[in-house]
Amino acid sequence: ALVTVLFHLGEMATATQSLDEDTFALLGAELGYDVQIVSPEDEDRELLESFDIDLEAEEAGEDDAELLPRPPVVTVMGHVDHGKTKLLDAIRSTDVVAGEAGGITQSIGAYQVRVHLGDETRPITFIDTPGHEAFTAMRARGAEVTDIAILVVAADDGVMPQTVEALNHAQAAGVPIVVAVNKIDKEGANPEKIRGQLTEYGLVPEEYGGDTMFVDISAKQRTNIDGLLEAVLLTADAALDLRANPNTDARGVTVEAKLDRGRGAVATVLVQRGTLHVGDPIVAGSAYGRVRAMFDEYGNPLEEAGPARPAQVLGLTNVPSAGDSFIVAPDDRTARQIADRREAAGRAAELAKRRKRVSLENLTDVLKEGKVDTLNLILKGDSSGAVEALEDSLLKIDVGDEVALRVIHRGVGAVTQNDVNLATVDSAVIIGFNVRPAVRVAELADREGVDMKFYTVIYNAIEDVEAALKGMLKPVY
Ligand code: GDP
Repeated sequence: ALVTVLFHLGEMATATQSLDEDTFALLGAELGYDVQIVSPEDEDRELLESFDIDLEAEEAGEDDAELLPRPPVVTVMGHVDHGKTKLLDAIRSTDVVAGEAGGITQSIGAYQVRVHLGDETRPITFIDTPGHEAFTAMRARGAEVTDIAILVVAADDGVMPQTVEALNHAQAAGVPIVVAVNKIDKEGANPEKIRGQLTEYGLVPEEYGGDTMFVDISAKQRTNIDGLLEAVLLTADAALDLRANPNTDARGVTVEAKLDRGRGAVATVLVQRGTLHVGDPIVAGSAYGRVRAMFDEYGNPLEEAGPARPAQVLGLTNVPSAGDSFIVAPDDRTARQIADRREAAGRAAELAKRRKRVSLENLTDVLKEGKVDTLNLILKGDSSGAVEALEDSLLKIDVGDEVALRVIHRGVGAVTQNDVNLATVDSAVIIGFNVRPAVRVAELADREGVDMKFYTVIYNAIEDVEAALKGMLKPVY
C-alpha cells in the first residue's frame, strides 16, 4: 500500500527500497502524520531520555560553583620517527610523585603525570597512543577527548607530510597546539628552521609575536621535558577554561578496550565529568556492566576516578570500541536495556549510513537535499607528481557557483585507514590513482559507507568528477 501512495507522489519505489528524507516527509504528510527525521545523536539522546537520563539538562542545570578546575588531556602527534613514542616515555618518567615512589607505569592507553609549576603541583593527562590516527578515529565516533595537541617535529628533519596532516587535524578540531622541537641534541638540528616553516601553516611562535609556544627538547636525552609540560599548562590556562563537576555521576570516553583472558573485558576509560566509583553500573556504547574493579596506570587499585583521570575498568560484559562514550546508569537493569537498544540502533544505523554518505553517484541527491554544498576529495597516488597533476586538473573543473570542490587531503601511497576515517569525518570521496587499498581498509570503507574510486588514467577521474558535478548543476526532474 505504501508503494501505491509513493507512486501517486511521483516517486517510483519498490517494496524493499529505502527512502530519502524528503520522500518520508511527503509520505507522512499524505498519510496525515508529522514526520521528523532524527540523527543518530538525537536518537541516542532520545533513547537515554526514555530512561530519564538527560545529559544536556544535567549539564545546563549545573551551577558555576560546582565546576572545578580539571587537568588538560593531551595527545602527541607528528611525523613518523620524529620522536612521539620517545617523548611519551620521557614524559611518563618525569612524574614528580611517581618518581619519588618509584612506580612503574603500565601501558593502559592513557596516563597522568604531575608537574611542578611555580609552587603548584598540577596533573596533565596524556593519551598514550601517539599520532593522529587515534585522534581521528575518536573524532569519527563523535568523541572530543583532546584539549591540547603536542606537535613533535624533529629539528634535524623539519616539517614533513604527517606533520602537516597532524596540524590540520588539530586545527580542524579547534585544539590548541604546543610545538615540541625535538632532537635538538643531534648534529644538524636547526630549531629556527622549524619555527619558520610552521609559521607558514599559521603556527606563529610567541617570540615572533604569535600565540603558539615552541619548546626545544631532546626526548632521548630528556632535555627540557619540564619546559614542554609547563608550556602545555600555560597554553591550557591561556586558551581554555578546563572545568568539570566532580560531584555527579561519571561520564566520559572509552580510550582503549580489549578482551583479557583472565580478566574478561578490560576497558580504559577517561572520566570527563563526575566521579566513577567501584560498583557503579555503566554503559559504554553497547557494552554494559558494573565496575568490579579499577586500576590506575601503575596497576594500583582505584576506588574512584574523577575528571580527566584515566582508569582501567573491569566488569563489562563485552568489549566497547575506542571512542565509545560511557555513562553511569541508575541501575544494572537500565544499563543492560540501554546497551541492548543501542546495539539494535547501531545495526540499523550501520545500514542507513551506507546509503547516506556522499559518493560520486549520489552527489546530486545529497547536494539537492542541502546536506552538503562542497564536494570534499581525498587524493592518493603512486607519486607526488601524479597526485599534483590530478589535483591541478580537478581544481580546473568549472564547478559553477552553487558548489565548491575542495581537496581536503592528498598524499603519496596506498589508501590508509586514516584516509577513510578522515573521509568519514568530513564526508569526503577518496580518489586513488595507480594505488589500491589494503583489504582491511576496503572493509572499513565499506562499513563506513565511504566512496572510493580508483583510476589509472587521470582523464577518467576528471570525467567522473565532472559528471557528478554536472548532474548537480542540471538537476533532471
Ligand atoms: P615516532 O615514530 O614519532 O614514535 O618516533 P620514535 O619515538 O620511535 O623515535 C624515532 C627514532 O628517533 C628512535 O630511534 C629514537 O631513539 C630517536 N629519537 C627520538 N627522540 C630523539 C632525540 O631527542 N634525540 C635523538 N638523537 N634521537 C631521538
